Amino acid sequence: MDSLYIVVPCYNEEEVLHETTKRLIDKLNRMTADGLISPDSRILYVDDGSKDKTWRIIEELHGQEPRVLGVKLSRNRGHQNALLAGLMTAKDMCDVTVSMDADLQDDIEVLDAFIGKYREGYDIVYGVRNNRDTDTGFKRNTAQAFYKLLKFFGVDAVYNHADYRLMSKRALEGLAKFGEVNLFLRGIVPQIGYKTATVEYSRGERFAGESKYPLKKMVSFAFDGITSFSVKPIRMITTVGLVIFLVSLIMLIYSLAVNAMGHTQAGWTSMMMSIWLLGGLQLMAIGVIGEYVGKAYMETKKRPKYIIETVLRDK
Ligand code: UDP
Ligand code: MG
Repeated sequence: MDSLYIVVPCYNEEEVLHETTKRLIDKLNRMTADGLISPDSRILYVDDGSKDKTWRIIEELHGQEPRVLGVKLSRNRGHQNALLAGLMTAKDMCDVTVSMDADLQDDIEVLDAFIGKYREGYDIVYGVRNNRDTDTGFKRNTAQAFYKLLKFFGVDAVYNHADYRLMSKRALEGLAKFGEVNLFLRGIVPQIGYKTATVEYSRGERFAGESKYPLKKMVSFAFDGITSFSVKPIRMITTVGLVIFLVSLIMLIYSLAVNAMGHTQAGWTSMMMSIWLLGGLQLMAIGVIGEYVGKAYMETKKRPKYIIETVLRDK
């Protein structure tokens, strides 16, 4: 039987930790009793530099419950990095991991189905939401637009899958080989390969606390997701540039011809329009190219994605 580690990144989650721990331990106990996982299965919390009592609560829970382990990052590094820190720590301790949010929005009853797929030989199992009823209309629409954009730019990502996902030990070993600093797990995981499956589940409301993904973070997440995986925006700019170049050639011939025929034009309108249009296009192009240059710059520095301060292991 294989040991399962549930990896949970936490940023200021003091309000949910007790309840989450209670429910997860109960679930792990039931799964152990059903013979799905081995008794040494654990919950691994990653404290992503929280400013509240999150780490103190994790230490307390670790003292009381043999099933609770913890990793403390040296500072806040964001959801994706915290998750990676947890997965990389768990990789050397267990056979299979499932990542999920601290707020238990993802239905934990489908863990049985995850493990079922794993035992059939799937290395990666994606949890896919079958509804978005609990989201606000705004979040629903922006999420939809996000997946459409990813698809348009040719990024291979699973539709309606957040980070609720099972990964086997060897899938994690594959993940460890991706050295990029700018991490977009939903884009990288499909690149690992191996047999993958999906499991549907319904997502509920956060039962306490508030979302740690405000609009600003969502936008930057979407930007990173696209530019980390696709050079299509740069190509589009090149195409637009080419088309404009062709148009300007035609314009050149036209104006020379008009000039030769002696019809002089006032020309103010057309000049103003082309200055503004070209100026705008150029700025946009420089912006997109700058985005990639910036990414390359960050990657060359090879800065660590996270620094682990403490690990609470099995006693
Ligand atoms: N999180 C994190 N670091 C951050 C922000 C969020 O580890 O900087 C964690 C957070 O504690 C939660 C998960 O990432 O467990 C997802 O965040 P949240 O539930 O707030 O996002 P939402 O479900 O609203 O998209
Ligand atoms: Mg959540």
